[in-house]
Amino acid sequence: MSKDSGKKGKVGGSLKWLFGYLRPYRAIFIPSLIALFVTAALSLVFPLLLKDLIGDPADALRGKVDPSEIKERLDGSLKWLVAALSLQAFIAFWRVLGFMKSGEAALNDLRRDLFSHMLHLPVSFFQEQRSGALSTRVAADLGVVRETLMTTVPQAVRQLVILVGGLSAVFFFSWKLALIMLGSIPVVVLAVAVFGRKVRARSKDAQDALADAGTVIEESVQSITDVKSFGNEAYEESRYSRALDRFFSVTMKGALARAFFLSFIIFVMFGTIAFVAWCGARMLVNGDIDNDNFVAFILFSIFVGASLGSFPEIISQLQAMSGASERVREILQDEAEASGGEDAGSLTGSLAFEGVHFRYPSRPEQQVIEGLDLSVEPGQRVALVGPSGAGKSTLFSLILGFHRPGEGKVTFDGRDATSLDLQSLRSQIAVVPQEVLLFGGTILENIEYGRPGAGKDEIEAAAREANAHEFIEALPEGYDTVVGPRGVKISGGQRQRIAIARAILSDARFLLLDEATSALDTESERLVNEALERLMKGRTSLVIAHRLSTVRHADRILVLNHGQLVESGTHDELMAKQGTYRLLAETQLA
Ligand code: ADP
Repeated sequence: MSKDSGKKGKVGGSLKWLFGYLRPYRAIFIPSLIALFVTAALSLVFPLLLKDLIGDPADALRGKVDPSEIKERLDGSLKWLVAALSLQAFIAFWRVLGFMKSGEAALNDLRRDLFSHMLHLPVSFFQEQRSGALSTRVAADLGVVRETLMTTVPQAVRQLVILVGGLSAVFFFSWKLALIMLGSIPVVVLAVAVFGRKVRARSKDAQDALADAGTVIEESVQSITDVKSFGNEAYEESRYSRALDRFFSVTMKGALARAFFLSFIIFVMFGTIAFVAWCGARMLVNGDIDNDNFVAFILFSIFVGASLGSFPEIISQLQAMSGASERVREILQDEAEASGGEDAGSLTGSLAFEGVHFRYPSRPEQQVIEGLDLSVEPGQRVALVGPSGAGKSTLFSLILGFHRPGEGKVTFDGRDATSLDLQSLRSQIAVVPQEVLLFGGTILENIEYGRPGAGKDEIEAAAREANAHEFIEALPEGYDTVVGPRGVKISGGQRQRIAIARAILSDARFLLLDEATSALDTESERLVNEALERLMKGRTSLVIAHRLSTVRHADRILVLNHGQLVESGTHDELMAKQGTYRLLAETQLA
């Protein structure tokens, strides 16, 4: 019992939360709700008038009333019936529009809230989950919430009105028969409680299993080139097959419970109706009830029964919504990245790590950065080298404030990064990643991303500096060429130059460059290097270096290994040392 009331509390809480989103649209929503009450109440007029259509001719047949008088009454009933139906249809039309409008508007607000909140969550949040699972989960949860708001809530209101109205009517027409009928309800309720719980649990399992299967697809599609290059199609197929099999077996268990449930309900419900009809017929014969009331009683009973039968579905949908909304609310309550530190202002470009220790929250047993001290002067060009897994990319994450050091601090112009507003700090850091991903949009928009609102001429100037202008102009639609996942394919070197143009446009003090490992043809290489040279000029640059030419031109080289700074100096100094760097330079740097 206490468990049940806990569940009710959850459903109640979820509904309250959902209605919070409807609040701004109450001017539409509340009238729609009232309209719903009215149409539901009007649907009870239907059996009332139907009773005359059925009952009166029966009276006529028995010769109780003159047939011509009956005909007149029938015409009257029909008129009322048509009037009630028209009114109902008219109100229903507006009610549906109102519900859709307020509901979808509220849901859009929720979607917006959720997306913008997710964008502000720390990077660790996304790293801690499989991204495919996250987006399918959220989409599925929002789907359930939508279904509930648009279908279940109106349904619940309508059925509640019909139930209350119908029960009052059956008592009014024959309280004796009503009591007999009500006597059998506990059996139905018990069945609903027992089977309903099973069905719900199984349907949740099924939903989870289906989401798992969806994740397999999403993961395969996302890394399709890996799947193919490793020849892993068969492996993915069997992974998907297994997930589907699991879904199927869970679904079948649910189906069994549902089938039992349904056949039981059919038997009990129609059995009850038959029993009540039998009792009623006996009362009719004994003269305990008159014909009119008996017909009315039967008609209203059918309404009551149908309405009762719809409640298990409504309740299970409300509980599904409660589960779904809870997950959504959890995300909404997750703490966003710290914001509101002091404005970073315009930085001169010095950067330091002071005794920084760091572990990823998702893998706390591994010390990734261990007691790192380094300082970089404004305008300096620093190359980071070290074996894979040394912590070079992690260093970038720490500079960008994606993660905070566990111990020690990162400073900009001597100011602790944790005291600075993240957005104003990041706006002064340009990043050119190893593998440049372009957004679905035009080339112009892709470059503009570096500084939203920049003018066309500024964008073109940046593209010129990045050696990108010429190839862009040569494309059939120039700067308006659509690139990205669904757009025109351009080469790796061209993508890099677009990323460089973006960084030039942003005019950031700091540049974090993760050099591409893949080889470009010599001409492309020359164009990229020239562009990078211009980009680095006058900025504090940290480069994860993979090329000998890059380290040769660096003011300083930092050699990382196992999260520690093991050597630092110029190329010539380090080569003379015969240490880690020399080994790396001879084996890894192209
Ligand atoms: P590098 O860029 O030098 O190759 P990284 O900074 O990428 O090295 O990685 C340093 C170490 O941190 C590696 O052992 C890697 O497995 C681990 N690591 C990187 N990213 C994560 C993450 N998001 N969660 C947990 N561990 C990570």
